[in-house]
Amino acid sequence: MNKNDIYEVKIDDISEDGSGIGHVEGMAVFVKDTVTGDVAEIKIIKAKKNYAYGRLMRLITPSPYRTEAPCPIARQCGGCTLQHMDYKAQLEYKVKKVENCLKRIGGIDDPQNLFEEMLGMDENPFRFRNKMQFPIGIDKEGKAVLGFYAQRTHSIIPVEDCMTGHGVNKYIIEAVKKYIDGKRVSVYDEESGTGLLRHLITRTGFSTGELMVALVINGEDIPAKEEFIKSVEEAVEQYNSENVGKESVLKSVMLNFNREKTNRIIGYESKAVYGRDYIYDYIGDIKFKISVESFFQINPYQTGRLYGKALMYAGLTGRETVWDMYCGIGTISLFLSKQARKVYGVEIVPQAIRDAKENARLNGINNTEFYVGKAEDVVPEIYSSGKDGSHADVVVVDPPRKGCDEKLLETLILMKPERIVYVSCDPATLARDIKILSESGEYRLVRYSVCDMFSHSGHVESCVLLERLK
Ligand code: SAH
Repeated sequence: MNKNDIYEVKIDDISEDGSGIGHVEGMAVFVKDTVTGDVAEIKIIKAKKNYAYGRLMRLITPSPYRTEAPCPIARQCGGCTLQHMDYKAQLEYKVKKVENCLKRIGGIDDPQNLFEEMLGMDENPFRFRNKMQFPIGIDKEGKAVLGFYAQRTHSIIPVEDCMTGHGVNKYIIEAVKKYIDGKRVSVYDEESGTGLLRHLITRTGFSTGELMVALVINGEDIPAKEEFIKSVEEAVEQYNSENVGKESVLKSVMLNFNREKTNRIIGYESKAVYGRDYIYDYIGDIKFKISVESFFQINPYQTGRLYGKALMYAGLTGRETVWDMYCGIGTISLFLSKQARKVYGVEIVPQAIRDAKENARLNGINNTEFYVGKAEDVVPEIYSSGKDGSHADVVVVDPPRKGCDEKLLETLILMKPERIVYVSCDPATLARDIKILSESGEYRLVRYSVCDMFSHSGHVESCVLLERLK
């Protein structure tokens, strides 16, 4: 197979990043913008030893799973790699992905027998993201642009409105652009590390309507601040007048200071220049205080359902001691606390633990205790100390994509909880960790569900129940 060769292929799978996969002479070819079931004419753009990349030239027979991507920039933008796939097919793809990982990596023979349900979004799967971050730049004509980084680059694809985010964003983006162009405010240049405005971040409380607008700046202040705030207020008013019944309440305008030459978006300090420095939102009946830096689950419609599943798998009666590993701002801990004797949480980010404690207080919850540190350091230490918390009836883990540290898994096996509920955002590391727990001879996978938190993207969230073998 050589570069520029033309082939006709049938797409039979989808890769991690949402490319279609077809086979030519037994070799996998990755083709962007195709979906399972397409028959396509493709041109080889790069041929490696064991696989190749192809470009879609012409669709010969479109797949029945294909749909018109409603977003005009879906093809360029790195966010929604699956938008051209029918939503039902997206869900099937995600279920299959977890199943394959459990089989191939986890060594589970018939995972489909243990599969309980796919928690897909009920309604139109758009307008579900409660947080957006738009890099700010300048186009060729010298005008402000806000948008998204194109896949694997730092060039900004301009966006007027992201269909996965809240409707108010469109009005805020417009206001920020007008402010930059009108007041000739400089924007940050990644090469030289000069210029003021770096990112616009918006956060919305979907059940409270509260809105936070934050500018990440490479400096101490912004020029014409009062006018900027006024234009944000007006943008919200305009959105509200056109969206009666779905009003946003502007509660906070923030400046976040990031003066480092870094890929990290948010800096370590921020201050409110309007209103308070946080917004409130609810998951179920638990109230959360969310600051500009806090980690908070992105999809408020699905978070409650995912945690509801975790709660069900935890099988609590009110007498249990529970550990919530990788607890973030305590979302799962607080969710479980009402039905447990005591919940311990551990998390590496100190501010998150500060928020977790405050969120417990805010909700009048007093049976939680939070530790700052790496779960793989804190938990083994508490286990060997023998103090309260060294025993657990139920353990919930919700690690980042890299999964659990092996030392933590070894400690869990020693702690012998009856049930381990594993919430995962990466089915490959989930399957790897399930294998470790199963091979100890102490645990077996009993049931799992998949949840669609990030519709139109290839990301897959799952919730798994492991039980101790008696
Ligand atoms: N359960 C929370 C957060 C899950 S995200 C929620 O649903 O909101 C994963 C969390 O793990 C992040 O907050 C991250 O800061 C934290 N983390 C990453 N590595 C860690 C480690 N080694 N020990 C403890 N926490 C860690």
